[in-house]
Amino acid sequence: MSGLGGRDSRTLSLALFGPAGAGKGTQAQVLRRDLGLEHIATGDMLREERARGTEMGRTVSTYLDQGRLVPDDVIVDLLRRRLEALGEQGFVLDGVPRNLAQAKALEPMLAEMSRPLNLVVVLEVPPEQLAQRLEQRAHQEGRTDDTPEVIAERLRIYREETEPVLDYLAKTVRVLRLDGTKPVAAVSRDLLAELT
Ligand code: ADP
Repeated sequence: MSGLGGRDSRTLSLALFGPAGAGKGTQAQVLRRDLGLEHIATGDMLREERARGTEMGRTVSTYLDQGRLVPDDVIVDLLRRRLEALGEQGFVLDGVPRNLAQAKALEPMLAEMSRPLNLVVVLEVPPEQLAQRLEQRAHQEGRTDDTPEVIAERLRIYREETEPVLDYLAKTVRVLRLDGTKPVAAVSRDLLAELT
């Protein structure tokens, strides 16, 4: 029995938090594979827009390269369209909401769909380990924002703008903190144990 009142895990509304390099994308993929949840990652969506050369892609390009938050109206638009296209299946938000304004815009959208967040999961990893992980990823993926300066900026924004969102959400949703320094499979086990 999980802390979710026996809810069908396929219809969950989840949000994954954690600094860059904490493993959100990796765990979201596991949730997609094992529970059939839609993976909604604003970072991936923005990089896609840029790769396709859309107007939005051109607008957000500098923000991505500098590790700064893309303007809220762009994110809220992107998210609204994505949520509207959702079927019945549950979803996991990855990398959004990233500040208080986004959290406050998201709330009525989910309420209107009768799909408020059921659980917020935070993957916790200390900064020294994050820098190491991201440096490794830079070699593998060649992301333009995985340079030491931009990584430092992304981590600063997470600490200053994103972490406070957790206190706000905790007023209405359970916030579960997991040790993100464990091996991927162990983190997945901890996570799935809460959901199934
Ligand atoms: P990471 O979590 O590793 O920093 P993401 O792929 O989630 O990477 O995000 C990459 C970049 O995309 C961010 O640095 C930011 O510029 C932009 N971005 C993604 N999601 C948001 C969001 N919700 N609000 C504002 N900007 C965002």
